[in-house]
Amino acid sequence: MKDSFQEIPSGEHRVERKHISQSALKVTDRLQQAGFKAYIVGGAPRDLLLGVEPKDFDVGTDATPEQVRGLFRNARLIGRRFRLAHVRFGREIIEVATFRGTGGADGEGDRSVEDGGRLVRDNVFGSEAEDAIRRDFTINALMFDPASGIIRDYTNGFDDLKRRRLRLIGEAEARYREDPVRMLRAVRFKTKLDLEMDPDTERLIPELAPLLADIPPARLLDELLKLLLGGRAWDGYNALVGYDLWEELFPGLLETPENPPTLIRQAFENTDERVRAGRPVTPGFLFAALFWPRVKAEAERCIDNGQPPVEALAAAGEEVFARHSARVAIHRRFSTMAKEIWMFQPRFERRRGKRAMRLLGERRFRAAYDFLLLRADENEQARELADWWTRVQEVDPETRSALIFGQQKSRTPRKRPHP
Ligand code: ATP
Ligand code: MG
Repeated sequence: MKDSFQEIPSGEHRVERKHISQSALKVTDRLQQAGFKAYIVGGAPRDLLLGVEPKDFDVGTDATPEQVRGLFRNARLIGRRFRLAHVRFGREIIEVATFRGTGGADGEGDRSVEDGGRLVRDNVFGSEAEDAIRRDFTINALMFDPASGIIRDYTNGFDDLKRRRLRLIGEAEARYREDPVRMLRAVRFKTKLDLEMDPDTERLIPELAPLLADIPPARLLDELLKLLLGGRAWDGYNALVGYDLWEELFPGLLETPENPPTLIRQAFENTDERVRAGRPVTPGFLFAALFWPRVKAEAERCIDNGQPPVEALAAAGEEVFARHSARVAIHRRFSTMAKEIWMFQPRFERRRGKRAMRLLGERRFRAAYDFLLLRADENEQARELADWWTRVQEVDPETRSALIFGQQKSRTPRKRPHP
């Protein structure tokens, strides 16, 4: 096994102690004082080397989770698939993971591998070198020692980062089979960090994409949300489609995923703008857009058969979610929000009177109105409605009353309600 490494001294790279959160430093300092090894590992050294602000700081150590708990009163042990310690400082949580080994199921501890080579539990402790090479990508395997400022590199991750290269550690096919979620992670890092994939890392994805079928739906949702809420949703979506991963997540949901309806593109782009502006985004809104073309088509059939629009949308929404969220576990709270947004749409068609006025104060008005704006491209009627509801909100209260309670005539005749 390979355990040679390269050391990049402070001064030859841009990661400094002052970039690391105080809490993470407390953890590494105390572990080292107690005689253990402790590094900042994973995403933080990678992001700092790229000049990106890290989301959080993870610590790697040779202390066992129990030993970590012994050193920190504010530590809690968590996880089954991957047991680790969480050390809490106010609102910040530092994840402290004991070095993992790479050996087979016969190692010390608890490691369990399925028939296809998929890792379902990974609690075999190992050496520092083993911990580095069991990680997914070379750029994620760097270890920064805040005491000396040295970066330890077992996988040539430092060079790969310089060349902006995303490369799986070890034999690509085995690493994807061991954990197919790494394919989604590859797409996420490539998109978020503007990296180029190494040929082996890239080439195998479309071929191995069907392996995602074996991943628990809750884990797929987590990974998907990280991809879509990281500020590059539109690029991320296109990469998923391009690498044949999208159809594994939502088979048959969109008719032409490589050329989705404008509304979907808009929803992704709006999400990205919001994320970049630091405004909150909710997956419920995004799912409302992604599922809309299908829900709309099905609801329209029922409406043509005489069902009232709100009911038709509720029923179609329920059914489409049931059918198309088998692979990715969409939380109830997201699907509920999506349904509320859809069912609001026909209600925008009533522009006048008390009921129209009341819409403005409803809890879902904002999200539903934002959705109506997305629909404005769908047809002339939706555009007119969007314009009207925009105007109603922009004017002063008196003009608003006049518009809604009708001292002046509505500019367009009412049409039959249609989603
Ligand atoms: P970010 O937190 O910015 O999303 P990250 O690289 O920190 O990115 P995490 O999911 O927090 O991602 O994982 C922390 C580290 O754990 C990774 O950098 C990688 O070294 C390792 N890791 C995470 N998931 C896997 C995996 N599926 N297989 C192997 N190693 C993994
Ligand atoms: Mg992280």
